[in-house]
Amino acid sequence: MSESNCLFCKIISHELDAKIVYEDEQVIAIEDINPVAPVHILLIPKKHIESLDKVTEQDSVIVGNIQIIASQIAKDLKLSENGYRVVNNCGKLGGQTVYHIHYHLLGGREFGWPPG
Ligand code: 5GP
Ligand code: ZN
Repeated sequence: MSESNCLFCKIISHELDAKIVYEDEQVIAIEDINPVAPVHILLIPKKHIESLDKVTEQDSVIVGNIQIIASQIAKDLKLSENGYRVVNNCGKLGGQTVYHIHYHLLGGREFGWPPG
């Protein structure tokens, strides 16, 4: 399941440290090391999937659960009233830099649209 050279697989296996804000059997959520907003959390399935482009029917439960977990963390952090953003960067033009699928939960400031 894990890929030996993958940064997020190493965080998932606790080989590398991260500030974990949520963990269950299938998903881990950590604070981003380089936050771009007052709240910047990464939601990462433990299964090594390279990107959104590589998800299959088999991943539907995990990918669906991530939205529910994002919503719950947002509530816990009192982001619900003012709103927040959940982002997936997919591939080179999408701005993906770590090739293990993850979703950014961003909050605590206003975000522009369209994205840069
Ligand atoms: P991407 O650009 O692939 O959508 O997002 C990758 C994210 O991972 C970036 O926001 C980056 O700051 C974060 N990141 C990169 N290396 C580490 C690390 O070692 N620990 C943590 N917690 N986040 C990281
Ligand atoms: Zn991985």
